[in-house]
Amino acid sequence: MQLRLPSSISEAQRCLAEGAVPVGGATLVWAGWQRDGFPEQAVSLRRLPEANAIGPGELGGAVLLHHVDATVPEVLHRAAGGVGTGAVRRAATVGGNIVGSTLRCLLPAALVLDARATVLTADGVYETDLAELLAKRLVLLALRWRTPLASGYRKLEGAAGGAPPLVVAVALHSGDEGRAHLRVAVRDNYDVLSGSAPCEPGAGAGEVLHALEGTELGELPAAARDAVRDQVVEVLARAAG
Ligand SMILES: Cc1cc2nc3c(=O)[nH]c(=O)nc-3n(C[C@H](O)[C@H](O)[C@H](O)COP(=O)(O)OP(=O)(O)OC[C@H]3O[C@@H](n4cnc5c(N)ncnc54)[C@H](O)[C@@H]3O)c2cc1C
Repeated sequence: MQLRLPSSISEAQRCLAEGAVPVGGATLVWAGWQRDGFPEQAVSLRRLPEANAIGPGELGGAVLLHHVDATVPEVLHRAAGGVGTGAVRRAATVGGNIVGSTLRCLLPAALVLDARATVLTADGVYETDLAELLAKRLVLLALRWRTPLASGYRKLEGAAGGAPPLVVAVALHSGDEGRAHLRVAVRDNYDVLSGSAPCEPGAGAGEVLHALEGTELGELPAAARDAVRDQVVEVLARAAG
């Protein structure tokens, strides 16, 4: 297998056009390649500056999970810090997690940030939403979002060999004329559900939670709804304090 390491967008496009398969840290694909055979060419974005950005409003697809630090909103920082083991986080990338994995702990965080994806194809670079990124398994160059007022993330303890642990991500966003809104996303088993509610100044957590009950989050089992409530209360308290 030839591993190609482009350092410019045009070079990366050429790699895709010539059939190179995108690879991050190979934490997921390696076993399959050993079993079924290696592709002729793979392309890693690790030398591409556009895929390595990290800051308050952006995160590159080639950034290693253990490099995701407190410069990004708390919800994303904590999501990356909770993936697998230290060894996995030292090798796995943001793109491999969101687009390539089934657990995708980073997805609820990206959803509550209302992140947009900058993607690379053999024909060019364009911006799209997370739904298209996932449905078409596009190559993720970077995620971008507007910095929230406050955010939070919780991953419950999972039983060894059992269902994936519940993940709750919450972000409070400022809106026009002081009309803030709260976005919540939950990974329950392998499903990701989300909802949002207006959050008027002075509104209590009870009103926000009541509004969230009217979204698909209201269909969650009681234990998951309790975890949502705790996280919403915590983020609203932090924003107020
Ligand atoms: C022991 C262990 C524990 C784990 N625990 C968790 C966990 O708790 N939570 C969780 O979410 N995940 C978990 N994972 C999965 C982990 O998130 C993935 O292994 C990892 O994110 C894949 O990243 P990678 O960079 O190694 O991807 P690779 O293995 O390199 O690629 C995986 C797939 O993603 C595609 N891909 C790679 N980069 C991009 C890109 N930039 N754009 C689009 N597609 C791309 C590849 O083409 C491939 O199809 C665990 C994995 C292991 C091995």
